[in-house]
Amino acid sequence: MPHLGNATAKAELGRAAWRVLHLMTLRFPDKPTPDDRETLKNYFHLFARLYPCGECAAHFQKLLKEYPPQTSSRKSASLWLCSLHNMVNKRLGKPDFDCLTLDSTYDCGCNGTNATTSASSSATE
Ligand code: FAD
Repeated sequence: MPHLGNATAKAELGRAAWRVLHLMTLRFPDKPTPDDRETLKNYFHLFARLYPCGECAAHFQKLLKEYPPQTSSRKSASLWLCSLHNMVNKRLGKPDFDCLTLDSTYDCGCNGTNATTSASSSATE
């Protein structure tokens, strides 16, 4: 694997990371517990600190400061992330994504209960 200064590797990393992030918000509960909400918020802040592309991480940290994670529901979290991704798209000269198509675009292939509620009941989904 080439180092992350290579534009192809950086783009591949970005695509993989966005996919995980979007699927995570789309699997977030409609009615999250306070612990779910805190966990999602902390996840994004830790992600932004540890993301391997330094330039991307610095910019994402700034975005998070200006637009803190929305964690009140699956809908608010997924739309919030979609709009942040669109801000990154804009900065990189990429087209805007229609956030109304999130559900039809993303499928993790993991039916059943979501991660936050299934941790103690199933490890096979
Ligand atoms: P991507 O932007 O990777 O998107 C992948 C797919 O997601 C698209 O094909 C589309 O189907 C879908 N999609 C597009 N927009 C949205 C949206 N708004 N909501 C939901 N789905 C969408 N690269 C840099 O060069 N500089 C940076 O500063 C930088 N910052 C980044 C910050 C983060 C947090 C991440 C995860 C990545 C960052 N990247 C950055 C990488 C960059 O955003 C792209 O991932 C990379 O350039 C590949 O772009 P792409 O055109 O393949 O589509």
